[in-house]
Amino acid sequence: MNIILIGAPGSGKGTQSRMFIEKYNFVQLSTGDLLRAAIAQKTELGLMAQSYMDQGKLVPDEVMIGLVDGYMTSQAGKSVIFDGFPRTVAQADSLNAMLNKRASKIDKVVYFKINPQILVKRLTGRRTCSKCGEIYHIETKPSSKGHLCEKCGGSLTQRPDDREEVISERLAQFEKSTGPTIEFYRKNGSLAEIDSEQDPEVVFKQITKILDLA
Ligand code: AMP
Repeated sequence: MNIILIGAPGSGKGTQSRMFIEKYNFVQLSTGDLLRAAIAQKTELGLMAQSYMDQGKLVPDEVMIGLVDGYMTSQAGKSVIFDGFPRTVAQADSLNAMLNKRASKIDKVVYFKINPQILVKRLTGRRTCSKCGEIYHIETKPSSKGHLCEKCGGSLTQRPDDREEVISERLAQFEKSTGPTIEFYRKNGSLAEIDSEQDPEVVFKQITKILDLA
């Protein structure tokens, strides 16, 4: 089974992906995480992607499609949760082609609906474990170990693009490019919507039901 989690930055896709891979047999494809790893390793891809990410812009489609194609080859035969990809109609078209080529398909697209005003608060307060990727929030989900991760003791950091100046551009990119992508999936009948302002456990249960996994 392959599923896409689609929604604005901060709508909870990453948190839900992590919950799903803990409980079910999925691998998570977070294109944002792959790009951040490339930046940390100072690869050619990382150096190129960083300037786009720092400004809150989307990395060009051809780069993202190549990255995802490579990942799919390395994870052949596994059920994938796509988190942060596709973000444009061109990426969605290419993903269909990549899956067709592998005699596979997208089973469901889950759209995380949320009031944009909540997102800024969610994003500016978000902290991520630099070691295991666990996601916290300084107000709504603080770590009981202060600046360290409860799960692995890694240090919690703020993503450079979670600063207020960059957030508005990321939200604008979502409206401009990902809005039409959501309509693309609505038209082809694979879209389900959830209210992602709810508690993560409630959202998790609802997605489980949508996917018939309960
Ligand atoms: P995320 O972690 O999903 O919020 O992604 C962080 C940043 O990585 C985005 O603001 C983009 O600059 C870049 N990025 C991640 N996924 C994509 C994608 N599918 N297409 C273009 N850029 C992406």
